[in-house]
Amino acid sequence: MARSSPVFEQPKSFRASRRWGRGYTVETTDVVVIGAGFAGLVAARELGRSGHSVIVLEARDRVGGRTWTNHALGHDLELGGTWVHWVQPHVWSEMTRYGREIVRSPMAEEAYWLGAGAEVRKGTLADFTALIDEGQRQIIADALAMIPRAVDPTVGGITERDQLSLQQRLDEIALDDEARSANESVWVGHVNAPLNEVGLSSALRWASAAGGHWPLMHEASATYRVVGGMSGFTAAIAADVPGDIRLNSTVTAVEHDATCAVVSLSDGRQLRAQRVVMTLPINAVDTIKVTPVLPDAWVRSNRERVASQGFKVWIKVRGRLPRFFAYASQHHAISVLKSEFVEDDHTILVGFGADHRAIDITSVEQVNAALGVWRDDLEVIGVAAHDWMKDPLSQNTWMTHRPSQLTRDLSELQQADGVLHFAGCDTADLWGGFIDGAIESGLREARLVSASLAT
Ligand SMILES: Cc1cc2nc3c(=O)[nH]c(=O)nc-3n(C[C@H](O)[C@H](O)[C@H](O)COP(=O)(O)OP(=O)(O)OC[C@H]3O[C@@H](n4cnc5c(N)ncnc54)[C@H](O)[C@@H]3O)c2cc1C
Repeated sequence: MARSSPVFEQPKSFRASRRWGRGYTVETTDVVVIGAGFAGLVAARELGRSGHSVIVLEARDRVGGRTWTNHALGHDLELGGTWVHWVQPHVWSEMTRYGREIVRSPMAEEAYWLGAGAEVRKGTLADFTALIDEGQRQIIADALAMIPRAVDPTVGGITERDQLSLQQRLDEIALDDEARSANESVWVGHVNAPLNEVGLSSALRWASAAGGHWPLMHEASATYRVVGGMSGFTAAIAADVPGDIRLNSTVTAVEHDATCAVVSLSDGRQLRAQRVVMTLPINAVDTIKVTPVLPDAWVRSNRERVASQGFKVWIKVRGRLPRFFAYASQHHAISVLKSEFVEDDHTILVGFGADHRAIDITSVEQVNAALGVWRDDLEVIGVAAHDWMKDPLSQNTWMTHRPSQLTRDLSELQQADGVLHFAGCDTADLWGGFIDGAIESGLREARLVSASLAT
């Protein structure tokens, strides 16, 4: 990197002009990692274990980022990322390392969906699977031709078809109204976005990662929870970081040149580091003033926003209900609903929708009304949710691309800009947007940073 900055050409005056803690010098470290989600924690652990001094700066008062196990409605509920699977190699390696167990989310005894004219249909899991099978198979039939190796998601036929939205691809497939609506709502559950705004690439990447087998893709993304919760998992990784993790530390600016970077916090503190690893989601990256400006792909995709814009909500209803799942249409406020905990006097459901603006997920009344599309026998007595889209530190749920973003931006998002490195689930090759992808990206950048510091 040929850029230089007056700040770094005059280190003495720079140091003298800034106050750190009780002294008057800027604190120094080999590496600053911004963010203590899965990507940041794993990157910091690897860097610390490689012998580098590392400081993690996290704006929240907890580690875990978009994973957060919160006690609410009488249960430990995952407000963010939840399900993991052994076809996700990076997360599974961490599961093994920290001795984590899995528990299966309940198998449904009943299924509800909407027929033609929006009348409610009721059947079994097998009935619903048969209804969506043709649509699911067709949409991902060419997944292995489009993305032959899921670890190289921008190589293959996808380069020709990345401009297609998932909706456009669905519209190419001949389905009756009932099967179409069911398939669409299933995809909302996966991509957390209106289907006309999300790239076909998201469906193809996941299908490719699951060997082109759609039931495995579903199982991988919504079946097995981690015993002890995601917060227990990230606490175990955090305890293993041989460095300092500083909570309540909001980074406001990063200035970098060819040799080092100065990281500024909202309280005026500053740190000087040889390398910085940023792990912010694409949508939130503009909350930090970076000088020189971020690479084009970051600026461009941040301005566009990624496709995902939905929500997840936990719902407590009165009474012990048979375990069920329900799909409405992609246009209903809640498109997907399923039982997660069944107790003697109540049942806990989890719901997903494509647009977080379509419903106030903190309102018992609005959620109760939304469930009315399937059943009028449900009485909502509590809700619990975190609106990740409104949260300035995430501004997103799990990342899915808009059409063309994958092949246009991913490779560039992975490139370091001099001493500034980028990790985070949005930059992953394999399970982009997932916990697995966050871990992959942390491992990748730790390796690259370590190698660059060794030269
Ligand atoms: C509702 C929901 C459901 C999900 N379900 C699943 C699932 O079932 N399975 C799955 O695999 N994935 C799921 N995901 C996605 C998964 O949670 C994410 O892929 C993963 O947690 C992202 O980790 P990360 O480290 O890349 O980013 P993050 O977890 O977002 O970490 C970035 C960190 O940077 C911090 N930060 C931001 N700005 C600053 C700043 N200025 N200064 C300091 N720190 C800052 C943030 O507070 C955050 O802790 C879900 C996500 C959501 C929201």
